[in-house]
Amino acid sequence: MLARQLINGVRSKNLCLSQRFQSTLVIAEHDNEKLTPVTLNTVTAANKIGGDVSLLVTGTNCAKVVEEASKISGVSKILLADNEAFKGFLPEAITPLVLSTQKQFSFSHILAGATAFGKGLLPRVAAKLDVSPVSDIIEVKTADTFVRTIYAGNAIQTVKSNDTVKVVSVRGTAFEAADTTGGSASTEDAPAPSDENTLSSFVGQELSKSDRPELTSAKAVISGGRGMKNGENFKMLYDLADKMNAAVGASRAAVDAGFVPNDMQVGQTGKIVAPDLYVAVGISGAIQHLAGMKDSKVIVAINKDPEAPIFQVADYGLVADLFKAIPEMDAAVSS
Ligand SMILES: Cc1cc2nc3c(=O)[nH]c(=O)nc-3n(C[C@H](O)[C@H](O)[C@H](O)COP(=O)(O)OP(=O)(O)OC[C@H]3O[C@@H](n4cnc5c(N)ncnc54)[C@H](O)[C@@H]3O)c2cc1C
Repeated sequence: MLARQLINGVRSKNLCLSQRFQSTLVIAEHDNEKLTPVTLNTVTAANKIGGDVSLLVTGTNCAKVVEEASKISGVSKILLADNEAFKGFLPEAITPLVLSTQKQFSFSHILAGATAFGKGLLPRVAAKLDVSPVSDIIEVKTADTFVRTIYAGNAIQTVKSNDTVKVVSVRGTAFEAADTTGGSASTEDAPAPSDENTLSSFVGQELSKSDRPELTSAKAVISGGRGMKNGENFKMLYDLADKMNAAVGASRAAVDAGFVPNDMQVGQTGKIVAPDLYVAVGISGAIQHLAGMKDSKVIVAINKDPEAPIFQVADYGLVADLFKAIPEMDAAVSS
């Protein structure tokens, strides 16, 4: 009994010691006005690793983001690089900054969200640091051991990294958002980038604007597939979504057919979502689509084919013609 207590005591002391030696840099994702929600999930993952958590904010005229970030609970320091050079958030420009920051502070971990931004940045950083990145983690076991999905979510892998710096991307839907109040992080300037970005420059961007909630953080998502037949028919889903304060997603088949833009794609090669409610309309349920939505809390499927694989993951299934079912749903929600 005493021996076990001693062993447990030594173990927890070692855990505390190992946590004390961790220091994590989280690379903030934002649009110069507001933090992207995945940053808050990434901060939670960083706090699970233990030790100090610093946030690197790079952008152009991003004072509002710094103000918001300084209140996040669990962040002790903000490193700020507010400069024209970071216009467009090009990974080619941000990588040298992360490298110089790493050189100065020797973080044990560098984290970002597993989003288009993180996927563009972290492999570059890892290659320059000569370490293997650990991508798209869904759990932190210890400071060096992480859980991630492979084979489009069909298998779960636990990986241990022996690299001195762990470069990790985080699946936002797998971690709660950190509290945006109660923090009091200090702000200091990040070191100058180790190199100038001469490879690429930001020319411009066309962003789709929507008043609907953002797909990856919406509480409810309605997605349409090839069964919608064309882009105009998506209006039915937009109308219903607006009444339910839901975001609208799509299968890859719907995107490839040109019904909707590709930032709406849910799945293995699209966005990963885990809302409270996911409604799949005219979507067959291919594994690549399921990889992006099967962690949703309640899944509703509407499909005219009773054999469609989507019904195997659905909590509620409606075998019906969507062109009849959606107007009926809309009327029911409106009344
Ligand atoms: C490497 C790779 C990556 C991929 N990544 C993704 C990804 O990220 N996301 C993704 O979605 N797919 C992805 N795919 C494609 C995936 O394999 C499927 O082809 C795709 O998901 C099918 O889309 P769908 O369900 O809309 O179309 P379909 O499989 O054609 O299904 C259409 C469904 O609509 C139903 N339907 C038709 N008319 C009606 C009606 N009037 N009323 C009700 N139901 C109706 C049909 O019964 C059918 O089940 C990927 C594929 C590969 C190889």
